[in-house]
Amino acid sequence: MKKITVLLMLVAFSVADVATLQAEEPVWQKGNIHTHTFWSDGNDFPEMIASWYKQKGYDFLALTDHNILSKGEKWMPVAQLKSRGGADVIDKYLKAYGDEWVVTRGEAEKQEIRLRTLEEFRKGLEQDEEFLLIQSEEISDRSQGVPVHMNATNIQEVIAPLGGATVREAMTNNLRAVAEQARRTGKPIVLHLNHPNFGYAVTAEDLAAVVQERFVEIYNGHPGVNVLGDDDHASVEKIWDIANTIRLVQLAAPPLFGIGTDDSHHYHGRGTSRPGRSWIMVRCDDLEPDAITTKISQGDFYSSSGVTLKDVVYNAKKQQLALTVDAEEGVSYTTRFIGTRKTVDLSSKQKKAANGKLVTRIYSDDVGAVLATVKGTNPVYKFTGDELYVRAVVTSTKAHVDPTLPNQTEQAWTQPVGWAVTPRRGR
Ligand SMILES: [Zn+2]
Ligand SMILES: [Zn+2]
Repeated sequence: MKKITVLLMLVAFSVADVATLQAEEPVWQKGNIHTHTFWSDGNDFPEMIASWYKQKGYDFLALTDHNILSKGEKWMPVAQLKSRGGADVIDKYLKAYGDEWVVTRGEAEKQEIRLRTLEEFRKGLEQDEEFLLIQSEEISDRSQGVPVHMNATNIQEVIAPLGGATVREAMTNNLRAVAEQARRTGKPIVLHLNHPNFGYAVTAEDLAAVVQERFVEIYNGHPGVNVLGDDDHASVEKIWDIANTIRLVQLAAPPLFGIGTDDSHHYHGRGTSRPGRSWIMVRCDDLEPDAITTKISQGDFYSSSGVTLKDVVYNAKKQQLALTVDAEEGVSYTTRFIGTRKTVDLSSKQKKAANGKLVTRIYSDDVGAVLATVKGTNPVYKFTGDELYVRAVVTSTKAHVDPTLPNQTEQAWTQPVGWAVTPRRGR
């Protein structure tokens, strides 16, 4: 969308200026990659949901139903649709899409509606450089009595959850299946671990150990996923820092990138898992599934629950991380640069939750410490050379539009930078 403006500006500049200008004006594509519809446990038709996101100015959307793609023939009883989406859910659908679009069969209480497929509804919604739908699935697995959910962005064929004796095994098995499909189809797929604290399912140690996984949800708008943890459990952001530190210190493995999503289920009625709470901004010129997925896989994105960044620049030569906040009037911004130093003591204590289950262990506060706090719209962090990695969290004074956390204000999270994977000796 912003691309048009940039291209028009480019005409007036010489070739030498082009690179500078492009560097100054990155194109960010806004998207949500965790969304549920009637195809599984959401409470509206997929095309109704997609048009909501489109109208709100999102550039792309992945519909991610549980263990199913919006593909093939699926009929649903009208009574069931109404009990989930409300008495007027069909009327709203008819009003938006008309009689000819809504396919029914049967009469009276036996009446059913066929859910339209992605192939069918994407035609009326997608627009070049304006709006894109990416085929996706929430691979919804279970192991050791807890949910292991992983979102496969840009998947081409449905993957049934593979299970495993442990959470780590289940994650590994699903990652392997996705990697195999990506190789076979030649299409990039990003498989990210969802809501680690939903059912307190995945510990920081699990997340660290499964090094093939490179992505984790660090904010999820579903109110039931324990983003902040509790007395027994670390917050999701802390889990992210612990896992990244373990990887860099002990496993010679790269850190995870943090993803913000909606995990929306409820689009009307009193449901609490609503859209519009968190998204990712991907630095990508092309609004096209493979390009977006590739940029995500490279970590060229940030996550947001409201704060917009004009730019995020890690300059390895200058040894600095600089952000430019797209400031709103009357709002102030504070950036915390969070990271772990190489001198960290990674010893930890075992912890058991009240129910006796093993949870993320207790580490020193130096793991994922606040290394600097900077106010204003152009925060810069200068590396001292002893950091394992540094990431930034921008917090604004503006109240979140639809909060799930106490006193929540808008935020943005950038990815860990300045890290290097040092191979372990003897490997
Ligand atoms: Zn889930
Ligand atoms: Zn979900």
